[in-house]
Amino acid sequence: MSENCVFCKIISGELPSTKVYEDEDVLAFRDINPQADVHFLIIPKSHIESLAYVDTSHAGLLGKIMTLASVLAEKEGSINGFRTIVNTGEVGRQDVFHLHFHVLGGDKALPAMIYKRS
Ligand code: AMP
Ligand code: ZN
Repeated sequence: MSENCVFCKIISGELPSTKVYEDEDVLAFRDINPQADVHFLIIPKSHIESLAYVDTSHAGLLGKIMTLASVLAEKEGSINGFRTIVNTGEVGRQDVFHLHFHVLGGDKALPAMIYKRS
């Protein structure tokens, strides 16, 4: 738990979220500002700042997150594929510094690239 981290507060229940999945290692919840018909985030419960801060000890955790992406995308209604995005650091335009995997989809093809709607 990192103080003043929005996603740590969601994990602890201090802030609300619409949960998609939870187990002892990870939490998935809908993005508050969806950029597609389906848009949720998968995060580790441990506070890792970004993909730039992972090492081989995190391989199992990252594998679990990637494996969950397709299962949860389908559960959320994205049947024919989805997009995963991991914004990292300043160049990657990361806004929340708790590692998160965006999963975006729906029932129609996404734009070639994602631009924020607002
Ligand atoms: P990024 O720009 O990759 O760091 O993305 C951060 C994402 O977190 C954005 O898509 C936000 O809409 C989303 N977000 C921020 N606060 C919350 C929240 N309280 N609940 C759900 N999603 C959030
Ligand atoms: Zn955190």
